[in-house]
Amino acid sequence: MADLFNHQAADASVAGVLSPGPEDLSKLLRGWGGEKPLLVCGGGTTSRCAATGLWTLDLRPGFDAKTVDPAMSSIRIGAGCRMGEVLDHLASHRLTVPGGLSGWPGLGYVLTGGIGPLARTQGLAVDRLLQIRGVWGSGDPFVLERSDDRCWRALCGAAPFLAVVTEVSLATSPLCPLWIDQGLMPAADLPQRMALAERAPEAESLQWHWADDEQVRWLAVAQQPSSSAVRIEGLHQLPSLAGAFSGSGRLHGEVIGLLGPAAATAWSEVMPTLTRLMRLRPHPGCTLSAQQLGGATARVPPQATAFVHRDAVWKPWITAMWPAGDAILRKRSLAWLEQLWAVLEPICPGVHLAQLHHHLLWHRRELRLAFGDRLEELRDLKARLDPNGNLPAL
Ligand SMILES: Cc1cc2nc3c(=O)[nH]c(=O)nc-3n(C[C@H](O)[C@H](O)[C@H](O)COP(=O)(O)OP(=O)(O)OC[C@H]3O[C@@H](n4cnc5c(N)ncnc54)[C@H](O)[C@@H]3O)c2cc1C
Repeated sequence: MADLFNHQAADASVAGVLSPGPEDLSKLLRGWGGEKPLLVCGGGTTSRCAATGLWTLDLRPGFDAKTVDPAMSSIRIGAGCRMGEVLDHLASHRLTVPGGLSGWPGLGYVLTGGIGPLARTQGLAVDRLLQIRGVWGSGDPFVLERSDDRCWRALCGAAPFLAVVTEVSLATSPLCPLWIDQGLMPAADLPQRMALAERAPEAESLQWHWADDEQVRWLAVAQQPSSSAVRIEGLHQLPSLAGAFSGSGRLHGEVIGLLGPAAATAWSEVMPTLTRLMRLRPHPGCTLSAQQLGGATARVPPQATAFVHRDAVWKPWITAMWPAGDAILRKRSLAWLEQLWAVLEPICPGVHLAQLHHHLLWHRRELRLAFGDRLEELRDLKARLDPNGNLPAL
């Protein structure tokens, strides 16, 4: 799978790749006798869409449909579509959905929550789901409409553990222009900048990327004009937060997303430790970034979906990187990630399970921090819907 966005997945010696059509998927899961878990590849952006010794269900070739229904203000998208393609297609109909910071992720973005720069007014991508179609891990096909049914609630945030989703319908919004401001600031200014963002109107959001010893790159997105900002037509034209990594060579890595409430003051207390750890990064590709949510995302009750951290206002994510094949630097980078996580955990106690890590020791811990007291209910559902454990363990 050399064409994958995620180099670690692309370099894996997979047991095999299957690209079933909708009619074959049920039979395949019912009779699966190969290595478990079966991995699913949608956008191919995470380290667990393909792995050494495991099989991947590559949904990209067989599920690439995108159909806009203007009368219903909705779009049906197949599980092989990237969010960038979806946003471009919708923009041609003057519509949009709450996309994220990059067009590369696929349906995994929506199914695991989907936090974007418009989240404070338009909510999470998962809150836009109207219908989900797919096959449970058991092989039983399903079509579910938006409801408070417990299977629906579980799919919205925990789908990768329960089912292979083949198609979803999402509610759209009219496409509106956005105003973009971006720049660099001293890392020491971060808490103050975050405090301002926490008080800003919901039509504004701040995202930042710390990839340097002392400087932080920031990107502000507003739905109202301002003098210094550049107008774009919508999220499909959003500039990159991080820019391209300038280092050479092929890199592998892991990412963990955290979730925490408004706490700019608490961030100022951890800044000295964060700054020290940033200076000790084992590799220049090791970074800390964050995006803002809240507002509309907090107006959905925690029990409505498996994205339970509805009080979250910041999603910091930690990226650990190392040169492909360098086991020593891999170990150091992952240890650095865990150190940073330990510093942030008191102020960002939740986990955004956008990337799965069932190959790492902290998988069980992140499951608990992602789903909290809903985990047992999800495990009960998994026992019924994926009884043979075809999909990743919960
Ligand atoms: C450059 C970049 C920018 C990002 N920006 C944001 C952002 O702004 N906001 C945000 O919330 N996240 C963001 N993410 C995280 C991203 O949304 C998640 O990692 C997401 O899970 C990726 O989905 P995918 O389909 O591309 O990945 P894949 O690697 O193909 O799949 C990811 C996981 O989801 C599962 N999965 C995928 N499709 C299906 C399906 N159809 N049925 C069942 N399970 C499925 C797979 O089992 C896999 O474990 C970003 C990631 C990258 C690489």
